[in-house]
Amino acid sequence: MAHLQIIQGDITKIPADAVVNAANTQLSGGGGVDEAIHQVAGMEALNQACAQLHGCATGQAKVTPAFNLPAKIIIHTPGPIWQGGQHHEAQLLAACYNNSLRQASAHHCHKVLFPSISTGVYGYPLALAAPIAIKTIQAFPATMEVQMVCFDQITYQAYLSALRDLS
Ligand code: ADP
Repeated sequence: MAHLQIIQGDITKIPADAVVNAANTQLSGGGGVDEAIHQVAGMEALNQACAQLHGCATGQAKVTPAFNLPAKIIIHTPGPIWQGGQHHEAQLLAACYNNSLRQASAHHCHKVLFPSISTGVYGYPLALAAPIAIKTIQAFPATMEVQMVCFDQITYQAYLSALRDLS
């Protein structure tokens, strides 16, 4: 079972084997955590690597090198855009976490960092997203050390509270 820790911080500053990026389906770079990751990894190198992947479907996950990030790989996963909850958002969000962990496992990564996928620009309600993230990570069979890296206090509190409710 994957071991999960919830922390507050900047995902680009924490050493790990794999950093998960909340990407878009074009893998074209955006705002939020995607932009922060591109800036630290190196815009040009990461854009070039992403362009070779020809996009990624929502809920799937694709890998690039991490370039100047303190990690071996970046796992890019486009989260679902919140459309009210009746458009498979929950299954797609769970798929993001599950497929990212599969990629991490396939690349022999032991320590993996996640941002709060879809709860920024994509509008997924935090209180609904947090338990899905936690349950999916905790259900992952491979032994792995996972850190949920919450950027702001509200996100951090939402994940802590979801973890309390689930235990
Ligand atoms: P999405 O489009 O999937 O909603 P966003 O990047 O807009 O992705 O937001 C996802 C989460 O990432 C938000 O909680 C946002 O505050 C957070 N975030 C932004 N920058 C960073 C960072 N440097 N480290 C960790 N999380 C970050």
